[in-house]
Amino acid sequence: MPELPEVEAVCRRLRRDAPLAAIVAVHFPRPAICVPQSHKTLARKIAGRSIESIDRRGKHILIHLSGSATLHIHLGMTGDLYVVSDIRFRPASARAWFDIEDGRAILYTDPRALGRIHIHPTSDIDRHLSHIGIEPLDPSFTAATLAALAHTSRSPVKAFLLDQRHIAGIGNIYAAEALFQARIDPRRISSSLSRPRLHRLHAAIVDVLRRAVESATLAYMQPGRFGEAEWFPLAVYGREGEPCLRCGRPIKRIVQSGRSTCYCPGCQK
Ligand SMILES: [Zn+2]
Repeated sequence: MPELPEVEAVCRRLRRDAPLAAIVAVHFPRPAICVPQSHKTLARKIAGRSIESIDRRGKHILIHLSGSATLHIHLGMTGDLYVVSDIRFRPASARAWFDIEDGRAILYTDPRALGRIHIHPTSDIDRHLSHIGIEPLDPSFTAATLAALAHTSRSPVKAFLLDQRHIAGIGNIYAAEALFQARIDPRRISSSLSRPRLHRLHAAIVDVLRRAVESATLAYMQPGRFGEAEWFPLAVYGREGEPCLRCGRPIKRIVQSGRSTCYCPGCQK
């Protein structure tokens, strides 16, 4: 599932390839991705507008259009958004595309079709995203901010990190990696984390996400490579049974709130 780093890379690539694209027509071969909005209304509202800027909040992509409208795109589990020079050669997973004035198209692909595309007046975006927590790469996200959020939560710290109402954009992979880097047991209750642990966790979240943004950006900018690549050296995620890179004990996998968590019982306390 695309998490903050991959979504950021998608935004950067789109800014590079079609920063001010004028959209002439819109196609929704899979109208369900617009629900509860009507794909016909959406197509009518988007055509004729130009991209003014491309923004991201957590895992949400915000494409601000001329005339004070904003396209709100969530990539779901398998979504991707990129510019193609000839839409006739689109893959079967094409769920929407936007014809642009110069003959190219911005294509939205999504094999599992769990992503969403909506349009809102730009002035309504804050209200639509009011449930989204703090942006972890924003300077306002400090160890003190993390401590204040963690102290309100009785959940295990892994579940706390996945809860988008607290911190936006962290998913299963980078939560596991940040906890490993901070040497914190994912089962610890958030409100009980000591100050030194919270400092380590804050530093680990920022470091893991920054590095992942850089490697995702490199991977997504390669010509002809659209996601799905293994680009980030994962230390613990998906390594069940393998020796820990830090202490050599076998990595363990547990299930927390229906999600798997890999961690090292030797060095995550
Ligand atoms: Zn270890």
